[in-house]
Amino acid sequence: MNLHKNNARSDIQLERMNLAENLKLCPFCSKGLIQIHKAPIEKETEAFFVTKNVFPYEGTRVHLLIIPKEHISTIADIAPKHWIEIGELFQWIVKKENLDAGALFVRFGNMHKTGSSIEHLHFQIISGTKTDEEDSEGLKVKLGYK
Ligand SMILES: [Zn+2]
Repeated sequence: MNLHKNNARSDIQLERMNLAENLKLCPFCSKGLIQIHKAPIEKETEAFFVTKNVFPYEGTRVHLLIIPKEHISTIADIAPKHWIEIGELFQWIVKKENLDAGALFVRFGNMHKTGSSIEHLHFQIISGTKTDEEDSEGLKVKLGYK
């Protein structure tokens, strides 16, 4: 397990990371999802769980995570047959949440370079809009290195 506390975005997130460290549990492995993450599993497939991000990005209405059941930290470790599940889950989320705009992204590798706080690979789906809010603010993209 590897956590990057410098990338925590709030005190409560840091507390959860300390709890994970004390319990020696990865927050995104199955025991950690129950004891640390605590948000319910919204959908499960052969290789993934879908759950809410308990520390949603500012301004998001929807912030869900697709988390591999296996503790992996790189996309190279996703079996080719499981990529289709990611696409199906993404489509399921878009339909379930009635999203007309949003983003799907995944960071991988060196957490000093990605700004990620948890090594366990996770796909993030964010949306800040509702279909009836045409003039809501657009997605703020902070991905980048400058
Ligand atoms: Zn894990």
